[in-house]
Amino acid sequence: STTPVKVAVTGAAGQIGYSLLFRIASGALLGPDTPVELRLLEITPALKALEGVVMELDDCAFPTLAGVQIGDDATKVFDGVNLALLVGARPRGPGMERGDLLEANGGIFAPQGKALNEVAADDIKVTVTGNPANTNALIAMSNAPDIPTERFSALTRLDHNRAISQLAAKLGVPVTEIKKMTIWGNHSATQYPDLFHAEVSGKNAAETVGDQDWLAGTFIPTVAKRGAAIIEARGASSAASAASATIDHARTWVQGTPDGDWVSMAVRSDGSYGVQEGLISSFPVTVKDGQWSIVQGLEIDDFSRGKIDASVAELAEERDAVKGLGLI
Ligand code: NDP
Repeated sequence: STTPVKVAVTGAAGQIGYSLLFRIASGALLGPDTPVELRLLEITPALKALEGVVMELDDCAFPTLAGVQIGDDATKVFDGVNLALLVGARPRGPGMERGDLLEANGGIFAPQGKALNEVAADDIKVTVTGNPANTNALIAMSNAPDIPTERFSALTRLDHNRAISQLAAKLGVPVTEIKKMTIWGNHSATQYPDLFHAEVSGKNAAETVGDQDWLAGTFIPTVAKRGAAIIEARGASSAASAASATIDHARTWVQGTPDGDWVSMAVRSDGSYGVQEGLISSFPVTVKDGQWSIVQGLEIDDFSRGKIDASVAELAEERDAVKGLGLI
């Protein structure tokens, strides 16, 4: 097709944006034959820096980049967009309570949800990367009553990719041998990376590892605390891998999952696996023709049940907090 796909990115002048935009523009999201028009939203003080990033995008002379628009008005920037990658968010400052964080992000994601509702294309798909991602997605979704709820999702693909990488390293196999990884719950320290349904070269991953102490005491905390470990090592947060996972997530949503595999996406729960309906929680999903479905029928043992319930309880608390603030 020659009509460019319009892709919105918020927080476009930030760290993740600096990795993300160049990958999208080069065709990593939609392939080498689909022209892309970038719609970049920033807060007013960051527009000058964003102009500099656009100069660099120009200088790459990407064949797939059909145009770039920037601005600080969501109803203009989101006009007609097909994909929205909501990266910009308010980070937790020193001494900031969770309620303050949720309120500050409500001030970002409620108006963005309303703007998408008003002006996005009919086929809009929204991916929230900015933290607290699940609850920010819930806020945006709740403020966009005319957009089908299944078009909102939050990123747990970075956790998913981290889990694949850790397991592959443990077993000394290429990452391509690992299928059916699942992250359940919230994109937070309570997330549950599940090896009981994952496969390594077609065999059950938990059985192949055969070491529950490693699984519970090393694997799960390493995946859940990877972001902090990267900040400690690099002196800055994991922006390039977050950008890469954002691309993976949105590309899978457009292109689908291969037979015999699934991905992790945080999507609106329909009550599957006892996750309270209406929460944006991470599940194993397959995608076909641009539509995700939660993988059904997996057996959940007591260990997994406890981990999933703990993360979902945190999501319910966040939901109650933003409800109390009148944001949803
Ligand atoms: P980053 O680009 O590094 O991160 C952006 C968001 O992604 C943060 O909420 C961050 O959460 C989150 N994130 C999710 N996964 C990861 C991960 N694995 N590693 C790191 N971050 C992750 O932040 P910057 O401060 O560099 O840039 C943010 C930009 O957003 C700024 O330019 C700011 O002006 C802009 N902004 C734009 C808004 C808008 O367009 N209306 C609104 C608010 C901000 P966490 O904080 O937990 O690390």
